[in-house]
Amino acid sequence: MRVEYRLDNATIFIKPEPLKRIYLELSRACNLSCAMCFRHFYKEDSTSFMDESTLKNVIDQIAHSSVEEVILGGIGEPFLSPYWKDAIKWIKDAGKRIAITTNGTLIDQETAAFLVANDVDRLYISVESSTLGHNNVESTIHVADMMNIMKQSSHTENPVLCAEVVLMKSTLEDSVMLIKELSRHGFKYVLLNNILPMTPKMDNEVLYEKSKDDNLWHELSAQLYKDVAVEYPEFSIKTERLCRFVERNATVIASDGSVSPCYRLLHDGAERVLGRTKMLKRYSFGNVNSQSLEEIWESSSYTIFRFKVHHALYPSCTDCGFHGGCGFLFSTDGDCRSNVPSCGDCLWYRQIILCP
Ligand code: SF4
Ligand code: SF4
Ligand code: SF4
Repeated sequence: MRVEYRLDNATIFIKPEPLKRIYLELSRACNLSCAMCFRHFYKEDSTSFMDESTLKNVIDQIAHSSVEEVILGGIGEPFLSPYWKDAIKWIKDAGKRIAITTNGTLIDQETAAFLVANDVDRLYISVESSTLGHNNVESTIHVADMMNIMKQSSHTENPVLCAEVVLMKSTLEDSVMLIKELSRHGFKYVLLNNILPMTPKMDNEVLYEKSKDDNLWHELSAQLYKDVAVEYPEFSIKTERLCRFVERNATVIASDGSVSPCYRLLHDGAERVLGRTKMLKRYSFGNVNSQSLEEIWESSSYTIFRFKVHHALYPSCTDCGFHGGCGFLFSTDGDCRSNVPSCGDCLWYRQIILCP
């Protein structure tokens, strides 16, 4: 199977890489309502929960596929789904690794025991002290302590405890203390992230700049190096572009079964990019309820899309001279090179925003 792509006067034959990783949006609903949440701007373009037949269909399809890992996540709380236990059991029965991203507030004794007994590989709890975020430090420490006791008595390392922390100007010092505290409670890995502002007011909390030779990375790593494994985002717009969804051969399946390349294009919504509002247009390459996942992944449109992202064939809107006056800056719908959708203005592509 190969896909043909014309680039100027060259013809390129692309062999699709095997699909390795799937993000499953079990739930787009959440029990919290954080000010920083993308969901506030989501349109009602999909179901709240993935239904049982879609879930079963996806897992049946991946059981004998090249997929290595499934992440139960999305921008919602997976433990609200009526099928989260089934999902874990079926994914494990299919022999795949499993990670869960959660705000952790619904994890009680029974849930924790289930995660340990079913050998969930990694549990990512997003944790923040800020009032813009989940304000869930206490509940996270409680979950970690409970889980550590259970893991010890079951003689297992799984689930490995991981945290996601969103850095903001007003809570930067608290975040450093928080990460040290998390490491004392058995967290092995912390993914640091930048805030993606939802409103102009939140622009003040941003720690990254358009162009600045910053030393925040050095400052943070000097303070945290000994305590825990930490992954850092970029704090300024660098020349290099790298989309972790594409580079990891990952795809995202929404609650209604549609297949999108990333969280950013998963639903209609909005974001703030370097001080301006941008409309996000949902983009899907197909739906697992009407086509096979393999067909969608290897389709020429999706294969060419990944090729273009990998080779940075998108214009660089974030540092373009036409910045102020270009109409393409207000939506992901297109750009000056006729790409639909466009990745040219994406802060995930610049590693400012990261995903587990
Ligand atoms: S916990 Fe996450 S998904 Fe839920 S409201 Fe907060 S940011 Fe949104
Ligand atoms: S789409 Fe507009 S902002 Fe982006 S690179 Fe092209 S001209 Fe510049
Ligand atoms: S570059 Fe951005 S918009 Fe494009 S696929 Fe990656 S995360 Fe999505």
